[in-house]
Amino acid sequence: MAHSSENERRHEDAQAHIRATVMNEICEVMHKTGLPPMVVMCLVAQAVGSIYRETADAHSGPSACGCGWRPHEGSDVDVLCSALLVACTRRQRRDLMTMQIAGRA
Ligand SMILES: [Zn+2]
Repeated sequence: MAHSSENERRHEDAQAHIRATVMNEICEVMHKTGLPPMVVMCLVAQAVGSIYRETADAHSGPSACGCGWRPHEGSDVDVLCSALLVACTRRQRRDLMTMQIAGRA
């Protein structure tokens, strides 16, 4: 199943890219503002929520994006919440912990 492992690899690459980018920004904001980790992480969670809102709005109504995706708010929000819950309780594999030191800053 070359196709499905290709998809899996692209998914993992995207996940690693987003994680490293967000980790970088969190560290930079903590250093610049002196805000504690939970305050900054709440800002990240709020940003994801408002990005969902904006994306869902852009895919609804008469001028909806033509890509074909349509939001299903109840289940989409459930999916986002469980992604957060699962990730909060699962430790990263060693090879993904590239920002280990920065993460403690
Ligand atoms: Zn679209």
